[in-house]
Formats: sequence, structure tokens, C-alpha cells
Amino acid sequence: MDLTLSPEDEAFRDEVRRFLDETLGEDLREAGRKTGGVFSDFAAGLRWHKILARRGWSAPTWPKEYGGTGWSATQRYIFSRECTAVDAPRIFSMGIRMVGPVIMKFGTPEQKAKYLPAIVSGESVFCQGYSEPGSGSDLASLKTRAVRDGDDYVINGTKIWTTGAHVANRMFCLVRTSTEGKPQDGISFVLIDSMDTPGLTVKPILTLAGDHEVNQVFFDNVRTPVANRIGPENAGWTVAKYLLEFERGGDAYTPNLHARLDDVRRIAREEAADGAGRLADDPGFARRLAETELAIEALEMIELRVLSDLSKGLNPGAVSSQMKIRGSETLQALDHLGVEALAWYAGPFEPEARDLGHNEPTVTPDYGITAMPLYLNNRASTIYAGSNEIQRNIIAKAVLRL
Ligand SMILES: Cc1cc2nc3c(=O)[nH]c(=O)nc-3n(C[C@H](O)[C@H](O)[C@H](O)COP(=O)(O)OP(=O)(O)OC[C@H]3O[C@@H](n4cnc5c(N)ncnc54)[C@H](O)[C@@H]3O)c2cc1C
Repeated sequence: MDLTLSPEDEAFRDEVRRFLDETLGEDLREAGRKTGGVFSDFAAGLRWHKILARRGWSAPTWPKEYGGTGWSATQRYIFSRECTAVDAPRIFSMGIRMVGPVIMKFGTPEQKAKYLPAIVSGESVFCQGYSEPGSGSDLASLKTRAVRDGDDYVINGTKIWTTGAHVANRMFCLVRTSTEGKPQDGISFVLIDSMDTPGLTVKPILTLAGDHEVNQVFFDNVRTPVANRIGPENAGWTVAKYLLEFERGGDAYTPNLHARLDDVRRIAREEAADGAGRLADDPGFARRLAETELAIEALEMIELRVLSDLSKGLNPGAVSSQMKIRGSETLQALDHLGVEALAWYAGPFEPEARDLGHNEPTVTPDYGITAMPLYLNNRASTIYAGSNEIQRNIIAKAVLRL
């Protein structure tokens, strides 16, 4: 594997740097810096999405014909690395990363024309309605029922852990359209065109860090046109699995891990060690930081190998499960170090410190205000997008043939 950037890729990196220099204002960087969960402040993220859309860069993974960049895997990696290095907001991206590729593959020409440009521009913001109480890992057991009535489906049931349902304006959902045969054979994939559809209620679930990211969504005779179904009726499982490939393997992990490592390093440089000197110079802490850095570098090698395979048209297969496990566990190890480095000062509950524009003094130093929220929110990273136990099962089957 050749890790040196080609002259074209170097020129691309410089172009991205120039663009970020010119367009990423301090208010947007503040939103990036104050990210205490998976996504940055929604309004700031959407503003950044629209700036990228004007440049033609809001859909880095999409082909040009659908409004994407048509970038190579290496260019996408460079873009992601450059954005995280300068604190660009983390965009709420379920449209770009998940439902968009599904519509490209399974949608009708009408569906493509209706939804794809609106996802690229930022006008359509989708949330993901897969999980239900009792149907998470065992997703095929889902019960939310859709019954045909004329040209509509009438939906009843509930979805849970729906990230961003309170800020999204559309939803993609798995619903049960048949109770015959295997559970997988009675599922359809439908789109809800408005979160204000009568009968649809969104109730917040607050995280331990006090953030509102996830929700429970209730459907009480919610109508959606049959024309909003993606793929054939009862073939939703195939569509759902295709989408999960993008959920697990779509984004590079290491750019974010490198940025988080820099954050923890900064905390360690500022905080005092037991005894004398700075924590960064404490041999025990420095060793653990170095171990985590090595884990990130090892993961980056895997990620670059996957990129290299993708550019040759090969399928990464179960490596995406390996990356999910190592990526989420390394993230949690970094969070742990960040909290440990701040010690008592990680503890105060000051969610207002992460409000954009907040400039009053805080107990936790400004370089540490996201440490505890990230520690708490990222506990979920080994659960969502297919829990790590499920990823281990995949590796056991696909790689170890157990
Ligand atoms: C912060 C957060 C955001 C989320 N966002 C969304 C979203 O936007 N949309 C959405 O649809 N869902 C979302 N989810 C839901 C997520 O996909 C599920 O939580 C996940 O699939 C696990 O399902 P569960 O919670 O029902 O746990 P369960 O499936 O009940 O699992 C409980 C435990 O048992 C283990 N387990 C289960 N089955 C097996 C098995 N076969 N072998 C070994 N161990 C097993 C699991 O690994 C886990 O440790 C989100 C979850 C979180 C925490």
C-alpha cells in the first residue's frame, strides 16, 4: 500500500484548506469545538451543509449525476481529515449517508427527482426510524404496522432512539406490511414526507449529559402515500440491509479520533500532574496517551487499506465490523483519558457552557467543557449502528467461519 499522496491529491488537499480558510467562520468553528455528542448544534450544522452545497461539496460520497462530488475514496478521506482538523461542525447527515444511497439504488425516477436534490441542498433533513422497543439488534421482529387504505399506508406503532427526530423534517421507516411467513419477509421501507403529519408525535429522551439527541416517535394512524415506498412491498429487509452497509462503513473513523486525541493532549498540557509538572509529562499518563495514539494509527492503516480496496472496486466485507469495534472502543478510551485528565473539573454539570455564544465563566476550563458530555454520550457508540457484540458475531461467522 502506497501511503504518499499523489500530486493531484496534494493539490486537492490545498484546495480544501483554502476553501475552509475562506468559508468556515469562527461561529461555525465554535459549533464544531462545542460538539458534545455525535452531531454539532443542528442549526450551525445545517448552515455549514448549505455552504458546502453551494460549493458542490455537501454529498462527498455521492456520484456527480445525483449532485455529489464524485470524489475518489482518498479525496473523501482528505476532505474529512481537513474538516475535523479545523473544527468544522459535524453535520446531521442521515440523508446523505443513509437514505440517499438507498434511493439511488432502489428508488423510481420520480422518487430520485423528488428527494435527492433536496437532500443535497439541505432542504430535506431525514431521521432514521428503524429501532423499536424490543426490536434493536433483533430488528426483523419490528411491529410498527402499515396497512393499505386506498393510495395510502396507515401506520400505527412506535420507534425509539430516533436521533434528531425533533430537528428533521422527514423520516425513513421500516414498517410491517405482512405478518405471513418469516419476519424478514413482511417489512417495507417507507418515507414520511413531514414530521408534522397528523398522528405523528415526537417525545424527547434526554441523555445522561443532559442533551436532547434521541427521541421516541409515536404513530397514531399516520398516513403516508404508497408512492413513498422504496422498493417493492415486503422487500424492505433487502433495502434496510443495504442501508446498514452505509451506516457502518460510510464514514471514516480516524479523522475524528485524531481530532479528539489533539483535544486530550491539550487538556494534558494544561492540567497539573500529581506532585509536580504538567500531566502531559507524567510518564504513566503519557504512556496511555501513546498507546491510544498507536491504536488510532493502526486503525488508520486499516481504514486506508479499505480505501485502497474500494478504489480498486473491491468490497471491504467484514473489515467494516472490525473498524466499528476498534473505532468505537478507541473513542471511548480517549473520552476516558479526557475525563481523567480533568479530574474533578470534568464533573460540574454546565450544559449552558456549550451554547453557542456563551461567554460567562465556567468551573470546568473552556478546553474541557465537552470532555464529560463526550464521555457520557459516546458510551452509546458501542451500541448504535449495530452493537459491538453483533459486529463480533459477524466477524465470527464471516471471517472465522464459526
Ligand atoms: C444514542 C443512540 C442513537 C440511536 N439512534 C438511532 C436512530 O437514529 N434510529 C434507529 O432506528 N435506531 C437508533 N438507535 C438504536 C440502536 O440501533 C439500538 O439501540 C441497537 O441496535 C441495539 O438495540 P437495543 O437497544 O434494542 O438493544 P438489544 O438489541 O436489546 O441489545 C441489548 C444487549 O444485548 C446484546 N445482544 C443482543 N443480541 C445479541 C446477540 N445476538 N448476540 C450477542 N449479544 C447480543 C447487545 O449487544 C446489547 O449489549 C440508537 C441508539 C442509541 C443508543
